[in-house]
Amino acid sequence: MTHPVTLALETVLRRTAGETSGATADYIPELAAADPEGFGLAAVGVGGRVFSAGDTERAFTIQSISKPFVYALALSELGLDRVHEHVGFEPSGEAFNALSFDPAGRPSNPMINAGAIVTTALVPGVDAGERFERIRSALGAFAGRDLGVDEAVLASERATGHRNRGLAELTKASGALVGEVDAATDAYFRQCSVRVTVIDVAVMAATLAGGGVNPVTQVRVVDPLVARHTLALMASCGMYDHSGEWGSRVGLPAKSGVSGGIVAASPGRFGLGVFSPRLDAIGNSVRGVAALQLLSEEHGLHLLDPSPGFSG
Ligand code: GLU
Repeated sequence: MTHPVTLALETVLRRTAGETSGATADYIPELAAADPEGFGLAAVGVGGRVFSAGDTERAFTIQSISKPFVYALALSELGLDRVHEHVGFEPSGEAFNALSFDPAGRPSNPMINAGAIVTTALVPGVDAGERFERIRSALGAFAGRDLGVDEAVLASERATGHRNRGLAELTKASGALVGEVDAATDAYFRQCSVRVTVIDVAVMAATLAGGGVNPVTQVRVVDPLVARHTLALMASCGMYDHSGEWGSRVGLPAKSGVSGGIVAASPGRFGLGVFSPRLDAIGNSVRGVAALQLLSEEHGLHLLDPSPGFSG
């Protein structure tokens, strides 16, 4: 008999599959070539049970979903105060690749590109290669397996990353960026090109939801406080310039990426991952948003409900 959680995921996929508006990201050719029909959804409990439906094997590049996890790594290495000497806490109200700086010259938050590049640069390493290996290993610890890089996407990111290099130059000029622009952007391009599946993403979220312990491997990846700080910024800034409406309608800390993935977490309960490459004008997966919203509505997942519950 199908488990009720699997049934819930399958039902949500079926009910939102007809939502075919939007378009795959076209800022790099490799992402534009993604199969627009891909659609997968996974839920992983903090006890380690894995549930999934749809395209759960299909790999996609993690893109901006990497940002909260690299932020968590930087927090683990340096602590909240030192990290936030370089990057702010506040939603920018602007696009992910905007020039959003606070009066102190810090990018608004670690979930936009400028803030993520600064955060990546805070991860210790003698060069981009060593820094990236630490990032790859941390992302793998969150996912519970070794994660590789999509070399074609990486080549595309490098070839077209002028705006990100420009953002990095500005953070260097404002004093927010530590080290060299090229070392920061190269590690950032590599981190965006790490390949994951929806199950990986759900395990990563469940690790944050469980206070920093990966529920599948039982390895402690970050401290509970780091997990909490990370979820807090996902809640306020994770869905690009849709974070406010997302907070009202879905009510789970989340982070989206331009390849069509979304990670979301219910602290103390479970992590979710969804993937569908067609994006709306803001850059969020159209079906991913629709699926998580329906799941939240149908099963009472909003964290601000008086009695949230998977049973609704
Ligand atoms: N590699 C992408 C960029 O920096 C990631 C953006 C995203 O997923 O939001 O442009």
